[in-house]
Amino acid sequence: MQKLATRPNIDVALVRLAYQTAAAAHRGQSRAGGEPYITHCLAVADFIADLHLDTAAIAAGLLHDTLEDTELTEADLEKQFGKEITFLVKGVTKLGQIQYQTQPSVVSKQQLYAKSLRRLLLAMAKDIRVILIKLADRRHNLATLADKAPEARQRIALETLEIYAPIAERLGIGYLKGQLEDLAFPFVYPQAYHHLVKQVKQQVTAGQKYITKVRHAVLANLAQAGVIVTSADARIKHYYSLYKKMQRFDMDLNQINDLVALRVILPDVATCYEALGVIHQHYRPLPGRIKDYIALPRLNGYQSLHTTVFGGDGRMFEIQLRTPEMHRHAEHGVAAHWAYAESGKSKTSRADGREVEWVKQLKAWMEESDETELYKGLKIDFLNDRVFIFTPQGDIKDLPEGATPLDFAYAVHTEIGHHTGGAKVNGKLVALDYELESGQVVEIIKSKTAHPTLDWLRLIKTA
Ligand code: MN
Repeated sequence: MQKLATRPNIDVALVRLAYQTAAAAHRGQSRAGGEPYITHCLAVADFIADLHLDTAAIAAGLLHDTLEDTELTEADLEKQFGKEITFLVKGVTKLGQIQYQTQPSVVSKQQLYAKSLRRLLLAMAKDIRVILIKLADRRHNLATLADKAPEARQRIALETLEIYAPIAERLGIGYLKGQLEDLAFPFVYPQAYHHLVKQVKQQVTAGQKYITKVRHAVLANLAQAGVIVTSADARIKHYYSLYKKMQRFDMDLNQINDLVALRVILPDVATCYEALGVIHQHYRPLPGRIKDYIALPRLNGYQSLHTTVFGGDGRMFEIQLRTPEMHRHAEHGVAAHWAYAESGKSKTSRADGREVEWVKQLKAWMEESDETELYKGLKIDFLNDRVFIFTPQGDIKDLPEGATPLDFAYAVHTEIGHHTGGAKVNGKLVALDYELESGQVVEIIKSKTAHPTLDWLRLIKTA
């Protein structure tokens, strides 16, 4: 309650009432680990409050298990809390019911994931707060997963890695994605986890020490150049994301330059570029590692400048530069838009065009696909890594990793796709099964006689 007191748009009395109602309803119930059940509801609501969501979402966080696990009915909720909060609680409840309705013996894991993914996405399309409460619920269930039976642990943890964490990433809530993955990691791959932690522990400590030293030097350089810095901190790479990255580098830790990175927050965009210039005057950048996600944001809206530089003592380190607003977006993603709403701007700003477009596309897709198909398509199209490809006019198309010129042609226009005769990448002719890489300029050569063949299905990655 204390942290809500400073938030003028939060109806603290209503939140308190939701707490009292939930506490009374769950009285006598306890979690698998023995704590009173209400501790779970509080943990969920607390996280929702940290995301700076509104009163309805916080209250629904407190009440999220009442319909499922207590005597309270929908009518009770609606009478006391109104339609909006009841709708949110119902939404979260429906999402949770999936595991009780399926019999693992007759349903494949993939079908199970397809089902839960479909529900999550449908809920998301209706009201993003439902999915955020569900993610908060999953986060706390993972934090207390050790108390559960072993089969349940494995299932919940794996489902988190497969579905919940990618969704958190797509929603742009970077730290939640990292937290979900790191909570699930030891349950899904216990051996790899313990091996990695042992291997990395010393280097993380050493890296932190090193960044602390570097931080002073970098801040001194920036101050000398008259660059104003809002704040600067070390950020440590999450274990699971490190594990996945190391798999790409033969598990060689020496190949990883961003185990610990320096994150500098600067007042505005111009200052970010200015700071990058100053840093490169003092530290030589590693070629190919300067990334301008300010001019070219990631699909989930992430913006920052990244550069990896030589520290002068044979070591390299990564620096990330961003404005406070970019930082808020990187941490809170779509939830940041609710924070704007809270600070007095209109609620219509809660989703920018891109996110709305994404949800619209999903809706259309869900209407026409069966579940297994949908899951496969989504796995490929939405949850995997993306490449960014330019049209000759400089427009950006984002495609799944491994996309070919044909995918690009269809992304530009279906008609262009149908009449693809050939393709040029950066001015050179390539085969239609050529694997595109981010930053390439692709030009499609149209041919009147070309038309889709069955063979093309083999060459195409997108749905
Ligand atoms: Mn719950």
